[in-house]
Amino acid sequence: MRGPSLMPPLPPLHDGRASAAPRRPAPTLRAPLIDSFGRAITYLRVSVTDRCDLRCFYCMSERPDFLPKRDLLTLEELDRLASAFIARGVRKLRITGGEPLVRRGVVDLMHELGRHLASGALDELTLTTNGTQLVHHAAALARAGVRRVNISLDTLDPARFAAITRRGRLQDTLAGIDAAREAGLDVKLNAVALAGINDDEFHRLAEFGHQRGMDVTFIEVMPIGETGFGRADHFIPLATVRERLERHFTLTPSLHRSGGPARYWQIAETGRRLGFIAATTCNFCAACNRVRVTATGRLETCLGREEGTDLRAALRSEPGDDALHRAIDAAIAAKPAGHAFSEGWTAPATRRGMNVTGG
Ligand code: SAM
Repeated sequence: MRGPSLMPPLPPLHDGRASAAPRRPAPTLRAPLIDSFGRAITYLRVSVTDRCDLRCFYCMSERPDFLPKRDLLTLEELDRLASAFIARGVRKLRITGGEPLVRRGVVDLMHELGRHLASGALDELTLTTNGTQLVHHAAALARAGVRRVNISLDTLDPARFAAITRRGRLQDTLAGIDAAREAGLDVKLNAVALAGINDDEFHRLAEFGHQRGMDVTFIEVMPIGETGFGRADHFIPLATVRERLERHFTLTPSLHRSGGPARYWQIAETGRRLGFIAATTCNFCAACNRVRVTATGRLETCLGREEGTDLRAALRSEPGDDALHRAIDAAIAAKPAGHAFSEGWTAPATRRGMNVTGG
């Protein structure tokens, strides 16, 4: 159930691709964001909260110290910030968290941001979610212009789901998947591959998704943040995941590219693609096109590095966006060549957790 919005009252929801008149001015186009390695930054992920209704053991600690709510950007500031990036050539915007759907008013924010789809400034507005709240929000997301959502699902076994998430119910995420599909959203499932936990059900996850017309991507667990749990013991290289899948399916490499870090294989038996994101064993940083902003307005130009730039101070320093753009420019110019996850890692590469940075 949605609580009261923090945003001003909104007109009726619209389809982000329809020709609804923008309610805020379109951003003035500014110089595109190109880093010192010549990489164009066209993809922004915005974390709207570090809070989550689950506690996945590889992502966050069981008793996290959440950010004080007073430190979070307001919904208006999040809109202003995302719009500033869109004015700099960002074409794809993903809202994430924490669990983005636990932030009050986030669907209204996405509805507002849908104006950039309607104006043609943005190609895609999307969301990463654990799915537990989608039964309440899927239809409104579709009306806001969202066409695709990524839903995290590491297992189809209720007991394992409860153990991985330390509190979640598989049925809630499955109901969320159904609600998203009923609302007409394309769903991609993301599964973190975990040795000794879900490594006997990769084929079932692939089948589950493909039988329902959903793409499935497997992700190598990354050394992000301190979770208080021996995450490295559960690392499994995606080459091994592929071998396991080949016991059940015929896989052939696909030339398909989505512009992100995933590499794809085609399954002959299902006729659909599988994605693999292997941050440790297959470094893809040379083609990185993305940056992330945390819920407190820190611009993180690399998921696997500690550096960050405080955009909140720049946002609040003056009414216009010039200071904000100067801060963004300085950060992009210093975007590192890549992360530093070494094969065989045991310690976290960052103190900041995935729930803070936004996955
Ligand atoms: N709550 C939302 C969700 O569950 O999708 C969005 C945030 S969550 C941090 C985004 C994604 O990051 C999820 O697919 C999650 O499985 C993944 N993730 C979290 N910690 C990770 C880690 N250490 N290594 C790899 N993926 C991770």
